[in-house]
Amino acid sequence: MRRIAILGSTGSIGRSTLSVVESYPERFQVTALAAGRNVDAAYQQALRWKPRAICLAAKEDAEALRSRLKSVGQTSIEVLHGSAGSVRVATHPEADFVVSAIVGVAGLEATYEAVRAGKSVGLANKESLVVAGDLLTAEARKQGKPLLPIDSEHNAVHQCLRAGRREEVERIWLTASGGPFMRTPKSQFPAITVEQALNHPTWKMGKRITIDSATLMNKGFEIIEACRLFDLPPSRVQVLVHPESTIHSMVEFVDGSILAQFSVTDMRLPILYALTYPERIPSDLRFPVMNLRHLEFCPPDMEKFPCLRLAYEAAAAGGAKTIALNAADEVAVAAFLDGCIGFDAIPRVIESVISATKTGKLESIREVLGADAEARRAAGEQVERLSRSSSPIPRAASIMSHRE
Ligand code: MG
Repeated sequence: MRRIAILGSTGSIGRSTLSVVESYPERFQVTALAAGRNVDAAYQQALRWKPRAICLAAKEDAEALRSRLKSVGQTSIEVLHGSAGSVRVATHPEADFVVSAIVGVAGLEATYEAVRAGKSVGLANKESLVVAGDLLTAEARKQGKPLLPIDSEHNAVHQCLRAGRREEVERIWLTASGGPFMRTPKSQFPAITVEQALNHPTWKMGKRITIDSATLMNKGFEIIEACRLFDLPPSRVQVLVHPESTIHSMVEFVDGSILAQFSVTDMRLPILYALTYPERIPSDLRFPVMNLRHLEFCPPDMEKFPCLRLAYEAAAAGGAKTIALNAADEVAVAAFLDGCIGFDAIPRVIESVISATKTGKLESIREVLGADAEARRAAGEQVERLSRSSSPIPRAASIMSHRE
């Protein structure tokens, strides 16, 4: 029986994880849950799963949840809040596997503490690896416990890597759907609306990651994730646009053999892989191979999607630059979603913050969080400067995103 703690239980990965757990009641048990601000969803999950502990981000939400649980006679569940609460969930003595799926840098401390407490960790929170990949992987090595990627591409790479030795790897091919604007001319980027950017062709995901997929910054983060997880320089991690997202990623070996992983586009599969590693167990997630006809591939357009170039640069510089990349992106995406800046301004905000950031290695999570706060402040200033100087942001669907 694997006893699981989920950080980010009401989000998309959290819910998929619970759906996997539901399918295998004899294998998995929910020990602790950490959610954000969705009290109703947390309440339903608490009743359904009866975890030992459940955490919400804000104190007042935790109080509301506690009294709702009490009113139905449910008093044995420990209700926690804040970052101390999510650390308690991540390090719960009765949990042996932690799924880290809190979006943003908010999940970093709890993820790191889970690794430090000797838990096996399934990582869906990419920010942890982007901003503190060196610290996390070093700690996991020290603990002798695996960091299992739940991100579909890295999960695919993890599977393909099992076919050869480390020194036999030539490069990793990360596939990218290309996002909704692959065929939109760059001249139309300033007019892209929030609705258009939120309309991802393949995956249904949270808002930030959907915008990050539209700018290709998500792929940029995945380059950094791959470098840290698999200990490779950025030059050995290549991006390949593959609109069908059938092949989740590939590994090329020194002899020229390339192994690809494909399966249904359903996050329950990488989650199941992580939860059962090193075993594989039967599932009903079948891929209809007979229906497969046509797969398209092309190189990414770095000029049209500058976020990709910025990510390669940050990956090579490491440390404070990758922290700045992530923080500036989070601030810029929030500003775009709020209608404060245009779609094309997102990479501009990020570039100005990165170039103002000094290179430097960070030695602790506290230093990482300090650098993150500093980069956020700088990004906020950039956003304000841009939103004062720019013309109104289009609200209605004013252009077509050229997809066929
Ligand atoms: Mg991915």
